Amino acid sequence: MNSAKVVKVEPKKLLPEIYKQLEAIVGPEWISEDRAIVEGYSRGLMVPTDISPKHAKDPTVLPACVMLPGTTEEVQAIVRLCNRYEVPITPYTNGQMFVTPTTSGTVCIHFSRMDRIMEINEKNMTATLQPYVSYNALQAEAMKKGMWNGGTPLATGICKVASQFAGAGIWQTDLKYGTLSRNIVSVKMVLPDGDILVTGSAGQPGTENFWEYSPGPDIIGLTRSSLGTLGLVTEITVKLHTWVGGSSFPEDVGHPSINTYYEDVEKKRFDRPPAPERHRIYWLEFPDYDSEIEALYKIAHSGIGIGLNATGAYSLYYCSQTTEMTNQRAEEEFFFPWNCYVMLAGISSEKQLEYEEKVLKQIARETKGKFLSEEYKPEVLDALAPWSQDCIRHVTGMRMCRGGWSGFVIPIGRISMAKKHSVIWCKALEELGETHITDRGGCGSTPMIYVVNRGHFMYSETDNYPQTHADPNGLDKVLEYLIYSHTASIKERIAGMGAAIAAEPFTSFYPEIGPNTNMFLRKVREAFDPKGIYAPGRRVYTKEEFEKVPMEVVGLINKHREKFSLPAVKAE
Ligand SMILES: Cc1cc2nc3c(=O)[nH]c(=O)nc-3n(C[C@H](O)[C@H](O)[C@H](O)COP(=O)(O)OP(=O)(O)OC[C@H]3O[C@@H](n4cnc5c(N)ncnc54)[C@H](O)[C@@H]3O)c2cc1C
Repeated sequence: MNSAKVVKVEPKKLLPEIYKQLEAIVGPEWISEDRAIVEGYSRGLMVPTDISPKHAKDPTVLPACVMLPGTTEEVQAIVRLCNRYEVPITPYTNGQMFVTPTTSGTVCIHFSRMDRIMEINEKNMTATLQPYVSYNALQAEAMKKGMWNGGTPLATGICKVASQFAGAGIWQTDLKYGTLSRNIVSVKMVLPDGDILVTGSAGQPGTENFWEYSPGPDIIGLTRSSLGTLGLVTEITVKLHTWVGGSSFPEDVGHPSINTYYEDVEKKRFDRPPAPERHRIYWLEFPDYDSEIEALYKIAHSGIGIGLNATGAYSLYYCSQTTEMTNQRAEEEFFFPWNCYVMLAGISSEKQLEYEEKVLKQIARETKGKFLSEEYKPEVLDALAPWSQDCIRHVTGMRMCRGGWSGFVIPIGRISMAKKHSVIWCKALEELGETHITDRGGCGSTPMIYVVNRGHFMYSETDNYPQTHADPNGLDKVLEYLIYSHTASIKERIAGMGAAIAAEPFTSFYPEIGPNTNMFLRKVREAFDPKGIYAPGRRVYTKEEFEKVPMEVVGLINKHREKFSLPAVKAE
């Protein structure tokens, strides 16, 4: 008989008197410390720091309780109480990233009851949303009125605008609309002491909600990407733009669908939804990396189009309806390595589309680009069809078929930086070994590139897809990839690893950024949250938290820093 002692994993509970007071705020129906419920909030979907502790049976990630407030006032009352008793809080919408408790005894605030679109202002083109309003819901409502929010992340349509404010907000139409952060008018937040902050002109009571830079400095800029550590968003107002794509959505009633999935797959019955009305998507291939980069610059600068991105390996998972197909296409190198797609919109008229198509064709001639068409690689063009469904506006259609996406390397730079990113990624693959065949995207092929703001900069992305069910060590490798890529990028002076999101342990171990951004963010944290109750240590460590980072993490980071001739960092 195995005599090893089994240690029971138990969440730290709240003191009964605190629990009772919290219960009084929302009512017994909207709070729970039931084990089955709190388990559901103890693992994020994609970042190793959200997944690995769960695999290691670390009880820290089990919230003490989960609460579903219905109003800003209830959120405020919860925060005030938690602040008084110094109980940590983590906000949660769908739980994709940076959501698990960082400290035992955390209250998880799930915003699922705050799901109303509060206003769509047609004249001034804005929408005010509660935190649980998804991209899907916003777009469906706004499009009925001939407007939309200007973009859609590759993340599922159920992800929320408010949680993206707390994270990245990269869209596939960033070429024209330029990321979520450029489309926010106002945010209402409950601060860690329970005060309410309204940013922009709406912060002056009675004044209309139309302008973002007020009061004084850019407070939205200070709080965006803070991963729920500076304020809990209870309302967000975003800009809307003209939409000419119609209001019908090709919903998931076709094939493959959940009801007939296996039959659909067997018979290869996969729908080919068209792009929205007055929108066209063009696919181009280039003979080499340099031609692709040149074309990206030229298209971006020409002023045409609303979206311009290169896809690389992303076409594999985005356009394969089974994981088997993804893997096979990766083996066969089904998709050409150097490509891009361009989205044109006839916002003013059909003629706009015709004119922009002419410009695009001219640029293709100048850069040796070839259009996929009925004549040239029709089978590849057909396979790429799922992009037209989802890259402009969100639908609940076919999603990606790939392994466990848990490591994403997203440096920011000028378009030509993509080549430097590829060099780093190839070296990482060579040294660390791939976690799955699709990790190769970006080495020998273009990374996923999102061109932003008419080409002023771009995000380029490479990822790891370990099969975590088969290889539990895959996650350790992913963390090492992140550390390797981050360190190499700092050395190469590449900006903004991790989509400009500051998250630990990267904030404190790379003082080259800023320099010493970690010290600045620490001060910001102290000013907003002196008691450290909002997801402590998620965005930036205090000195005490930094000193407690496990030696194996410190050692791993410093090993890579040393390899790239960067001085070792001491926790302080
Ligand atoms: C397949 C896939 C593709 C993705 N592609 C993209 C992409 O193209 N572009 C992009 O930008 N992102 C992308 N992401 C990331 C993802 O879109 C974001 O993490 C998104 O915000 C997750 O939504 P969520 O509702 O699950 O938020 P959660 O994961 O629940 O929360 C995200 C963060 O926001 C905080 N938070 C939640 N609600 C609030 C609130 N009300 N106030 C303050 N903080 C809050 C949480 O604590 C957490 O730190 C992708 C994710 C997946 C899984």
